[in-house]
Amino acid sequence: MADDEFERALSYSNSALSMLKRGRVPPYPQFYELFYVYATGVNSALNERINAVYSDRGMPKMERVENLYNEFLKAREVDERINAVSELMSKNIDSMQTAIHDASESAESYSGSLQQASTSLDGDIDPSALRALTQHLLSETKQMQETNKELEKRLENSRDDVTLLQHDLEEMRRESMTDSLTQIYNRKCFDQQLNKRILEAQKNGTPLCLIILDIDHFKNFNDKFGHQTGDQVLRLVAMTLSANTKGKDMAARYGGEEFAIILPDIELKDAARLSDTIRKTIQSKELLKRSTNEKLGRITASFGVARLGESDNATSLIERADRALYAAKRSGRNRTVAEDDKLMLTQSAA
Ligand code: GH3
Ligand code: MG
Ligand code: MG
Repeated sequence: MADDEFERALSYSNSALSMLKRGRVPPYPQFYELFYVYATGVNSALNERINAVYSDRGMPKMERVENLYNEFLKAREVDERINAVSELMSKNIDSMQTAIHDASESAESYSGSLQQASTSLDGDIDPSALRALTQHLLSETKQMQETNKELEKRLENSRDDVTLLQHDLEEMRRESMTDSLTQIYNRKCFDQQLNKRILEAQKNGTPLCLIILDIDHFKNFNDKFGHQTGDQVLRLVAMTLSANTKGKDMAARYGGEEFAIILPDIELKDAARLSDTIRKTIQSKELLKRSTNEKLGRITASFGVARLGESDNATSLIERADRALYAAKRSGRNRTVAEDDKLMLTQSAA
């Protein structure tokens, strides 16, 4: 590596580290990469966004830094993979087309030879000419068999490649729907699913409920025990939601420390009951720091529940579940409030 290249990379690296330090952003590899790219200045959109995050009251919010990484760098990875898969797919299609074209050309020439032989057999033919003709046909047939074998092999290879590509695509589809931290569905998938379930419920005249929950005082928890331990808590909450949902239900990470559950075919009263079971389960877990076994106490969450009304769409349903969640926060946290709860009235009066 040339000296000046080394110096340049070192200066990007120093500048990335000093940005991380200045913003008290932990130098995990993904954040280091983000600020390294920032230092190179190759992505002006990213730089503008980072500048905005840093100038916003001086300190960047972890959540926003993480979102920037997901948006600019992680998304790029997926894009690159999609490009690679489509390139391979089209190469495969090309080579299959060539194989099929070659095979059909040699079939045509074979049929030409047969045609010729049948014309020669029309007249009188002496035994030596007949022998020569038979030999010619035999060799043509052999050639044809080899071409077919070759075609089979090429098609088989292509078929294997296509199977691998299908797996890749399936994996990418799964990843694009999954929240990378908690491994449950992400916001994008939640939005699509909610719209789909609302249409179904409206068409079939069946009930549909939505729970939105938010971890209580999570900022304090992070400040006290660190962001990584906070991440473990998010995973734990996600697992609790998955364990308590089944069939058509869908639990998703809605945003930072907020989650949502779509519950088709159940009424508000039952959704509120399920919500409260989940709330109690979360509260009952005693948290231990993995590395040291240090006791971290317990966490709680507040829940809002709403039922789809006749004139609802996704936005209005989410808004009402959010309002119920807000009422739960206002009335002391660690509780479930359904939209028909009297606590909602207290809140609107306040
Ligand atoms: P409240 O009870 O009112 O909800 O208080 P809160 O502290 O939970 O709410 P606030 O909105 O003030 O803070 C949310 C916190 O959630 C701050 C942020 O650092 C944390 N958070 C969001 N996303 C993540 C994440 O991916 N990992 C970790 N560890 N923390 C996160
Ligand atoms: Mg929140
Ligand atoms: Mg919170």
